[in-house]
Amino acid sequence: MTSATESRHAKRRPNLKDYSREALRKLFKARGWPAYRGDQLATWLYKNGVDDLDRMTNLPAAIRSELAREFDLRSLEVVETQRSTDGTQKLLLAALDGVRIEAVLIPEERRNTLCVSTQVGCPLTCSFCATGALGFTRNLTTAEIVDQILQAMRQMEEGTTLTNLVFMGMGEPLLNLPAVSEAIRILTDPKSFALAPRRVTVSTAGVLPQIGPLLEVAPIHLAVSLHATTDEVRDVLVPLNKRFPIAELLHTLREEPNIHRRRPVFFEYTLMEGVNDSVEDARRLPGLLDGIPSKLNIIPMNPHRDAPYRAPTPEVVDRFAAVLHDAGLRVTLRRDRGRDIDAACGQLANRRPVCAPDGPLVAAGDEGDLEVEAAP
Ligand code: SAH
Repeated sequence: MTSATESRHAKRRPNLKDYSREALRKLFKARGWPAYRGDQLATWLYKNGVDDLDRMTNLPAAIRSELAREFDLRSLEVVETQRSTDGTQKLLLAALDGVRIEAVLIPEERRNTLCVSTQVGCPLTCSFCATGALGFTRNLTTAEIVDQILQAMRQMEEGTTLTNLVFMGMGEPLLNLPAVSEAIRILTDPKSFALAPRRVTVSTAGVLPQIGPLLEVAPIHLAVSLHATTDEVRDVLVPLNKRFPIAELLHTLREEPNIHRRRPVFFEYTLMEGVNDSVEDARRLPGLLDGIPSKLNIIPMNPHRDAPYRAPTPEVVDRFAAVLHDAGLRVTLRRDRGRDIDAACGQLANRRPVCAPDGPLVAAGDEGDLEVEAAP
């Protein structure tokens, strides 16, 4: 840690980007200022992407100086960017306390998707995921989640804009629901960033009690990391399954009122050779998903040094997909983006030693499905 980050950390203050427009109005009112001044601040922060109070010239100087005394406005800074030959861009970002996270920008012809992290590390220890091997450091704040988007916007070419957002980076979003919810409110606020909720996807390994509350925040899409058709296998891949087994997970989704034909679940199924890629697995899936409006996204395992798994051959992947397709499931194969810069699913790992001399501090999950997880 540099002495600059240390001293900033020492007097860590609340961040204005932890507040949605509504929360800023309340904060202003509580301080005896008109609520519409809070609106003006929200517009600067989230619509104009300005986090320098000196530039917010329509706010009275007295308000600006009081805010400057008590709040931070910045939370992350870009440490490094890497660009893949396919245009995928990986951003390495540092928080005020020195922890580092990654976000991935995936440009396509008709849309630009950003994959964001919600935690530093992850407590779930999924055996095939790079993040699982790293342990858990802390939750990200709302400001840090929102800043991933604002920083990524600054990296984008003139005339392009972010169209889709996937919470599929490092961490389990539903174990950080308050911060994730407020970030979703900020980013879907029609008067600010104005992302359409249907273009936002939150992925979970299945923290069941939080699924209902998440879907109450806004009509976003839910992605669920399934990866297995039996508890025996899923217990190993996703240890959270011991607490919330497959039948309970699927029961919760079946009963969830905010899941319906227009808002199906995107199931993620990372295919691993000899682990979950059999024809029997494929045959079990349609029955398991019966009654849940769903799309299934097959992601051939992206190899990394912390996991003993690899992808099946293309023939096995195709056969698996064909069985599902023939059974009437909506199936897609996730395209591999950014592999040459370790930015593909489960490959994001900041290999730079930050704490341990021989290990990475952070890694992120994946780049998001490019066909399914966002409506056109
Ligand atoms: N904790 C949440 C959010 C992370 S999303 C969740 O589990 O859903 C991360 C996604 O990346 C998961 O769906 C997982 O399937 C995928 N993933 C992780 N490691 C992978 C790997 N090595 N290869 C392919 N996909 C991987």
